[in-house]
Amino acid sequence: MIEMEKIIKQFLSEVNQKNQNEPEFMQAVTEVAETVIPYIVSQDIYYGQNILLRMVEPERVVSFRVAWIDDNEEIQVNRGYRIEMNSAIGPYKGGLRFHPSVNLSILKFLAFEQVFKNALTTLPMGGGKGGSDFDPKGKSDTEVMRFCQSFMTELFRHIGPNKDIPAGDIGVGGREIGYLFGQYKRLKNEFSGVLTGKGVSWGGSLIRPEATGYGVVYFIDEMLKASNQDLKGKSVVISGSGNVAQYATEKCIHMGAKVLTLSDSSGYIYDNDGINEEKLQYIMELKNVKRERISAYVKKYPKAEFYANKNPWSVKCDIAIPCATQNELKVNDAKVLIKNGCKTVGEGANMPCTSDAVNLFIENEVLYAPGKASNAGGVAVSGLEMAQNSLKYTWSREVVDGKLKEIMSDIHSSCLKYGSSKGHQVNYVKGANIAGFVKVADAMLAQGVV
Ligand code: NDP
Repeated sequence: MIEMEKIIKQFLSEVNQKNQNEPEFMQAVTEVAETVIPYIVSQDIYYGQNILLRMVEPERVVSFRVAWIDDNEEIQVNRGYRIEMNSAIGPYKGGLRFHPSVNLSILKFLAFEQVFKNALTTLPMGGGKGGSDFDPKGKSDTEVMRFCQSFMTELFRHIGPNKDIPAGDIGVGGREIGYLFGQYKRLKNEFSGVLTGKGVSWGGSLIRPEATGYGVVYFIDEMLKASNQDLKGKSVVISGSGNVAQYATEKCIHMGAKVLTLSDSSGYIYDNDGINEEKLQYIMELKNVKRERISAYVKKYPKAEFYANKNPWSVKCDIAIPCATQNELKVNDAKVLIKNGCKTVGEGANMPCTSDAVNLFIENEVLYAPGKASNAGGVAVSGLEMAQNSLKYTWSREVVDGKLKEIMSDIHSSCLKYGSSKGHQVNYVKGANIAGFVKVADAMLAQGVV
């Protein structure tokens, strides 16, 4: 035991030395190292191959200037990135994030997690991530378009349908994907499946916008079924009110659960009657079309309450689904959730729970699903969009939704395979990390030292 701790510590110290001032990246690597290194040590084929050390080093990192002109004709300068992390099992695949907090550490953690997540989907996709510190909030549509065009004018030389296929993430939705795709098409003079999350009339897949949120709820349903429960009648607390939160809410409603909260960076709304289909439509209009704040909800539905600058984790619930951003649920929030009887946590966002919070959930036998397993539905349907683009064919909603459900169920089974141990609750963190590792590591071993 002591020897294992020493090996892990030594590995992390070596990685840390090369990646100083990258706390989010080190957090993601630590979580993987703690569960995967003991497995590597127990397996002759992986031991001594330095595979994890190779995996934490991106295959390529691109950083570039994005200059653009705002509506006041002033020149603005942002920084763009693309992290091409691992292409052992397929071309790089992962979203673009536009948010002022974006930096190398955040994108490297996201790219690293993406490698494992994409492997779990069983589709042939490597891992990558990119974005910019550009803030689309408060910008006009034409400013967003000019920024996207400038961003793509550099990015286009690094990506391609068989090379690297970006998608959306925080701050990059249908509007941004449209502008990015338009500029790529103009520069390359080709209509190809270089981005996913496209509009349905120009190469997008049905169910792609819904896929991450629906997938999280399918995964939670699998966890509940495995312990002889279901979603019906359960109370649910959700954070965020963007793409993932909206469709997680929709699927919870469809499956008979009661969603009590949603939030954004200004605070959360609490609706004791539950957010129903009609109220959700209003939120979608508010956030996606009018681009307003979630607080407007209580003007429309005065029985609901708005809590400024607070997160929703103090609200009593059976299930918590964090869908906003990394490290939004801290150990004190986890304590309150557990005290209030929350028994299930499924991550919609990437790494929304801090390491201490995750450990507390596991110690207290809360069913806890890490994002790399539970939010993999988005990239899975992106993979299906790529397949449809190659076939030059479109599958129906029912077909795509059926495949999504099957993929989430398969990911759940993979977690059980490596995360079950007699007499203990399933450890989904261990299960997801080892299952993702095995697939990528086997491909890397077969391909030699490259
Ligand atoms: P959106 O931009 O659509 O929505 C993000 C939501 O989170 C908004 O409500 C936003 O509020 C809130 N938020 C963002 N940053 C913060 C912050 N620092 N503090 C509090 N609230 C914040 O993004 P998505 O829904 O697409 O993504 C949400 C999460 O899900 C991210 O972690 C992303 O990586 C992950 N994810 C997304 C996938 C996808 O398919 N879109 C796939 C897999 C994971 P505000 O508007 O005030 O900023």
